[in-house]
Amino acid sequence: MSARYDTIVVGLGIMGSSTLATLAARGKRVLGLERFDLGHAMGSSHGINRIIRIAYFEGASYVPMVQRAAQLWTALGDRLGERVMHVTGTLDCAPATSPLTAQSRYSCVANDLPFEELDGDAINRRFPGFRVPKHFTGIFQPDGGFLASDRALAGYQSLAIADGAEIRARSPMLGYEPTPDGGVKVRTAEGTFEAKSLVLTTGGWIGEHVPALKTLAVAERQVLGWFQPKEPARFMPDRFPASILKTEDGHFYQFPLWGAPGFKIGAHRHLFQQSPADTLDRNVYPEDEALLRKGLAFAFPEANGACLRLTACHYTMTPDEHFIIDHLPGAPQIVVASPCSGHGFKFGSVFGEVLADMASGETPAFDLSMFQMNRFAVGRS
Ligand SMILES: Cc1cc2nc3c(=O)[nH]c(=O)nc-3n(C[C@H](O)[C@H](O)[C@H](O)COP(=O)(O)OP(=O)(O)OC[C@H]3O[C@@H](n4cnc5c(N)ncnc54)[C@H](O)[C@@H]3O)c2cc1C
Repeated sequence: MSARYDTIVVGLGIMGSSTLATLAARGKRVLGLERFDLGHAMGSSHGINRIIRIAYFEGASYVPMVQRAAQLWTALGDRLGERVMHVTGTLDCAPATSPLTAQSRYSCVANDLPFEELDGDAINRRFPGFRVPKHFTGIFQPDGGFLASDRALAGYQSLAIADGAEIRARSPMLGYEPTPDGGVKVRTAEGTFEAKSLVLTTGGWIGEHVPALKTLAVAERQVLGWFQPKEPARFMPDRFPASILKTEDGHFYQFPLWGAPGFKIGAHRHLFQQSPADTLDRNVYPEDEALLRKGLAFAFPEANGACLRLTACHYTMTPDEHFIIDHLPGAPQIVVASPCSGHGFKFGSVFGEVLADMASGETPAFDLSMFQMNRFAVGRS
């Protein structure tokens, strides 16, 4: 048995890596365990970029958290000497009657965010990569954009090491148990480790470690596509915002050209295919491409060229698409965080602070009650 840590963080996706780096920067003695290689492609945090929206249609109460997250992404970039957050503005675009744009607008008004509301014609004039019908509405919010996600992930891991964290990759946690003195023991094939607290950020595997979440945090297959634009100039970051497109029968997200060849588009929840993370189908099929092309054909015809790449990965979905961030019922030294449902990356920086606070017995700066497990009737003892 090795000496006791302040905190062990299990699962080094963006949530675990930022938590580990934050704790290490605070001078804590920390161990991070990752089942695969660092930067692997089996979870949810790999890939070149992720959207960061401030006009949050998922709920106005997310806005202060995402504003803090944006500050921390910029600070991370400053510390790494490279840009992590790229501000293009964001556009949420849907039929004028859609709740999505109403909720984006509400988030802006409630949080005093600058925004512009555009009809379909104005969207097409302002952003020539778009071709949406006139009856569409767009909420353009200038402070959002995208994050260089692979760089952010590796950046947090590197900073954690620089600040003294121990990392064991290819080292799955096999089990854990609270100890009588209020700490925790974690078992791996290499040995057993003790700490005062444990943070479980195991993404699509969280149900294996917290049985109450087995049916509440479930891996769901996603497929992303990159397509050859016929007119690349329309899709450059200075002319095309990171954006959401909700149509009558689809919900797409797309990026300006950046970091990889081709126009990147995904369909939120894709084909709604849920399975355990280990048996998730990571192959891609013609129907995956066909779904993404529906979004291209509807609104981005100049990007609807040859398919350059398709890749499959997973979200970890909760029933209400909000996150789970809580202490384990009956074991306050164990923190459980599954902030995905397809929209968690942008919060990775701020949740590093939040989870570090929770693991250290401090009160986080945000009201997290909407993320508690007991909203799903998971009992507290
Ligand atoms: C296709 C796609 C597009 C997305 N787009 C956006 C977007 O534009 N904007 C946005 O904000 N969010 C987006 N998201 C969501 C975001 O990426 C996720 O919310 C976030 O990456 C989740 O991070 P995580 O650290 O919780 O999980 P993960 O990245 O899955 O990390 C969990 C880690 O735990 C490890 N692990 C599991 N079991 C064990 C064990 N027993 N021992 C040790 N380690 C273990 C896993 O190997 C993994 O590394 C997207 C997600 C996907 C998949």
